Amino acid sequence: MKPPPFRYYDPATLDEAVGLLGTLENAKLLAGGQSLMPMLNMRFVLPDHLIDLNGIAALSHISKEAGRVRVGAMTRQRDLEFSPLITAEVPLIQAGLEHVGHRQTRNRGTIGGSLCHLDPAAELVTVAMTLDAELTVRGPQGERRLAITEFPLGFMTPAIELDEILVGIDFPTQPAGHGYGFAELARRHGDFAIASAAAILHLDAGGRITHAALTLGGVATTPTRMSDIEQGLVGEIPSERLFTERCRLCAEVETMDDALVTGAYRRRVAPVMARRALMQAAARAGAAAIAA
Ligand SMILES: Cc1cc2nc3c(=O)[nH]c(=O)nc-3n(C[C@H](O)[C@H](O)[C@H](O)COP(=O)(O)OP(=O)(O)OC[C@H]3O[C@@H](n4cnc5c(N)ncnc54)[C@H](O)[C@@H]3O)c2cc1C
Repeated sequence: MKPPPFRYYDPATLDEAVGLLGTLENAKLLAGGQSLMPMLNMRFVLPDHLIDLNGIAALSHISKEAGRVRVGAMTRQRDLEFSPLITAEVPLIQAGLEHVGHRQTRNRGTIGGSLCHLDPAAELVTVAMTLDAELTVRGPQGERRLAITEFPLGFMTPAIELDEILVGIDFPTQPAGHGYGFAELARRHGDFAIASAAAILHLDAGGRITHAALTLGGVATTPTRMSDIEQGLVGEIPSERLFTERCRLCAEVETMDDALVTGAYRRRVAPVMARRALMQAAARAGAAAIAA
């Protein structure tokens, strides 16, 4: 199938892109095109104008500044995959990226495109939630910042206005020795997750959990932080038994059905993915009861 007719724009600066988006009726932004192009070809979206962000060099960068890693919205998923800074500071991003599509899709696909497309199973959204990422969005009135937890308003609906562009994502750096884990069940490697889980654990010198973050992906209509489980883990010594018991709460999430998988099946799988992600995180954090 071919996309519907549209006018194409190729701005070289963010100001130009914001100006176009603020004045054109029924415009759409193009990032890596890995989700948008299929949707255009299938005519699920019918824009009159397409504004290509690929010529805006300032939107593509990975840097470290004052306790956070700053990533431009147009940074390719493949560049994140091989960034030594990401490996050193927020390796959970790379653990999630191992499950995102294929080398070819990651070569073009961007972090900003994945967050704004907001598929409930998108690994980068699940990871960004777990890392308490902060987003910077720019519109005609200037810039605003919002926490990733405020970003999903509902199924594939980000909290971004029609005249706004996601500019960048900030990830708080993780302390040395922290643990991270990502577990996923998909029909084939590279497919969207039936259920996934991302976890971060910080331990004190005595091996007790001081910080826990756990997010389920692909289970509900948006990735879901499991704050009750997180709170229940703080102060505990990590063990498989503890995680198995606490992760039972994952079965209480309001799951979604789709053409291939029932919500009931997702309720069975979610606790297993959560336990596996936490086990990986505990092993990486050096928990005594869990072998790395
Ligand atoms: C075969 C295949 C397998 C895939 N498997 C997976 C998978 O397993 N997991 C997964 O998460 N994804 C998967 N994807 C999707 C892929 O990760 C896409 O890269 C991602 O969903 C969208 O990123 P993009 O840069 O291509 O954005 P685009 O497709 O260009 O845009 C997506 C949407 O976001 C909007 N947008 C883009 N950038 C911005 C911005 N800066 N500000 C505001 N709005 C913006 C666009 O207007 C559009 O609505 C797969 C894709 C393919 C083709």
